Amino acid sequence: MDAAEQATRIKILHAMGLGPMWLSRYASDETAPVVATPAFADTPPAVVLADAGLAAPVSLVDVPPAPVTVVSEPVESVSGMSWETLQAEVASCVACGLCKGRAKTVFGAGDTAATWLFVGEGPGYNENIQGEPFVGAAGQLLDNMLHALGIRRGDRAYIANVVKCRPTDSNGKDRPPTPAEIQACLPYLRRQIALIQPKVIVALGKTAAVALLGVDPETPVSQLRGKEHHLNGVPMVVTYHPAYLLRKPVEKSKAWRDLCLARKALPGSA
Ligand code: SF4
Repeated sequence: MDAAEQATRIKILHAMGLGPMWLSRYASDETAPVVATPAFADTPPAVVLADAGLAAPVSLVDVPPAPVTVVSEPVESVSGMSWETLQAEVASCVACGLCKGRAKTVFGAGDTAATWLFVGEGPGYNENIQGEPFVGAAGQLLDNMLHALGIRRGDRAYIANVVKCRPTDSNGKDRPPTPAEIQACLPYLRRQIALIQPKVIVALGKTAAVALLGVDPETPVSQLRGKEHHLNGVPMVVTYHPAYLLRKPVEKSKAWRDLCLARKALPGSA
């Protein structure tokens, strides 16, 4: 690896919060083998750094779901809607009980003709207030992941969630959406995918992965990641939710591999 390639790789790893320990490994061992691959090598950093000073957020995945009454029938058909109509439909949606506690719907954000589509679980506390997906610490980590891929929100990347309203438990804390809530909201995401026509989809966490793939909700992420799936012909890769990575930074090396796999899955990347 020449100096320019090494500088690029260091910059990208730093953007993911993987930099300093990775750097020290080579700084202390001049004879360490250097893998002659550019920024998206298959081999992840051997040691993973903590979360670059980001605070751990409220769990999005470990809180047991609380029952929420579905107040009307699931969304019927959105298959012919334009982007604007779809957005307006979501903003006024009462198709599931999540409408009752929301401050704002969180439709999604980014490039509406994006190459990359990232799909998370649902809005949390901050997202519900701001109406934007992935804000706060998890959002900052996601932005670093995008940066590592050479993209950013609004530039070849779109970020959406499986449900557009914030699911909360009886104590007002974030929780995963129930299967009924997911079924009610999924047509919106499907229409977003049809309109965006991404070249690759990255499912962030188990909820997004099982919802999009239609597999058993109990399927662990570990069984879904590390391979290329297809969603109506679009390659899809599963990785960990950024909130999980903040709690378990040791898993960032696997997320790195997932991003490399997604990049390889891009048509024409071979
Ligand atoms: S979560 Fe989705 S289906 Fe439920 S009210 Fe919000 S927009 Fe409608």
